[in-house]
Amino acid sequence: MDDVDHTLQLYNPRQLRVVDDIFLTPLLSLPHPSKWHDLKVIDFTPKTFEPEDIEISITHCGVCGSDVHTLTQGWGKSQLPLVVGHEIIGTVSRVGDNVSEFKAGDRVGVGAQRGSCLECRECKDDYENYCTNSIDTYNSQYPDGVVAQGGFSTAIRVHERFVFPVPEEIESHHAASMMCAGLTVFSPLKTHGAGPGKKVGIMGIGGLGHYAILWAKAMGAEVYAFTHDDSKVDDIKKMGADHVINTNKEDFHKDLVRTLDILLSTRDVFGDSVPLGDYLSMLYVHGRFVTVGIPDANDALPPIHAFDLVPNGCLLGGSKIGSKKECLEMLELARSKGIKPWVEELPMREVGKALQNLKDNNVRYRYVVKQDIA
Ligand SMILES: [Zn+2]
Ligand SMILES: [Zn+2]
Repeated sequence: MDDVDHTLQLYNPRQLRVVDDIFLTPLLSLPHPSKWHDLKVIDFTPKTFEPEDIEISITHCGVCGSDVHTLTQGWGKSQLPLVVGHEIIGTVSRVGDNVSEFKAGDRVGVGAQRGSCLECRECKDDYENYCTNSIDTYNSQYPDGVVAQGGFSTAIRVHERFVFPVPEEIESHHAASMMCAGLTVFSPLKTHGAGPGKKVGIMGIGGLGHYAILWAKAMGAEVYAFTHDDSKVDDIKKMGADHVINTNKEDFHKDLVRTLDILLSTRDVFGDSVPLGDYLSMLYVHGRFVTVGIPDANDALPPIHAFDLVPNGCLLGGSKIGSKKECLEMLELARSKGIKPWVEELPMREVGKALQNLKDNNVRYRYVVKQDIA
C-alpha cells in the first residue's frame, strides 16, 4: 500500500460545520438528517507500518449499528473525516518483520478493536477488549497521532494481536459480520455460561440478536427470543429459537417469571417505555441481565428500583466486544457446526444504502459489502 489509500468518507465536507453546531447545541435535531450516509471516496494516511503489523487487502466488510451511531454522532463528536466499518475480512498483503502468526495470502479478519497497551492486567488476562488504552478500529487515534480509519476501504494495517485467522470452511461474506456482531454476543454467552440446561433470553433480534440465537443454540442452551416485530417470527424459529415472545403483548413477561439464567439485550434504543423491571423479573435466582447494545448518549437505561434487583438476586451488567481468544473459539464453533449468519450483500460503493436501511431497521439480518472501490 502506498502512503495514501482510497476509501469511503463518511461526511460530505459541507456537513462539517453543521455537525459541529450539533455538538454545541446537542438538543437540536439534525438540520439535514439525510446527509449522514452521503459517502464519497477519499484518500487518507494509513497507520504507520510497524514490525508487528499486518497489511490487509480488504474484500468484505459488515455493516454495524456502531457505524450509524458514529456517523450520526449519537455517541458523541466524531473525528472527521471518518471511514467507518469494523467487520473486516481480507487477504494479508504484507507482514512486518516481527509478525509470527500470519503470512502473505492468509485470509483474515479484524473487528471493532485494532490496538491496546498489551501490558496491563486486562491485556495479560485475555481481556484486551477491556484495556483502558484500547484503540477502536475507527474514530480513534494512535499514540503517534495517526487517525485510525475503518473497513469501508481498500486496505488496513493492524497489529497482529487484533487480526483473526479465518478457517477455510467459513466463507468471507459469512465471516465478516462475525468480527463484531458475532463476537459481541458470543463473549457474554460464553462468559455467563450459556450451555446445556441453561435458559437464555435474547432481546432484540437484529444483526447481533440473530447471532445470539445461533450461538446459544449451538452451545446447547434453550433459547427465548423477544421481539416486537411479528414479521420476524418465522425467521427467528428457523434460526433455532425454542420460544418466540412478542413483547407487544400485554404482560408478556408473566408466564416467564423466574425462568431465565441469562438475558442478553442487543437493543441499542431504550427509552422509558421499555419495562426493564419486567424483564429482570424473568431472571431465575442470580440470573444475569447483560446489555451489549449501546444506545445514543441521550438514551439512558429505563429507571429501575432496588425492588427489581433484590427479590430474585439478579445481576445487571454489560459486555464489550470480545477478546482474540474468544474470537478464535467462536470461529471454531461456527466452523465445526457449519453455522452461517443471515446476511444481505451489496457492493461497497452502496454502503450508504446499507447504513440507511440499518438505521431504518430494514435489514435481514446483517449487511455485508463487497469490495468494488479498489
Ligand atoms: Zn460493531
Ligand atoms: Zn492493556
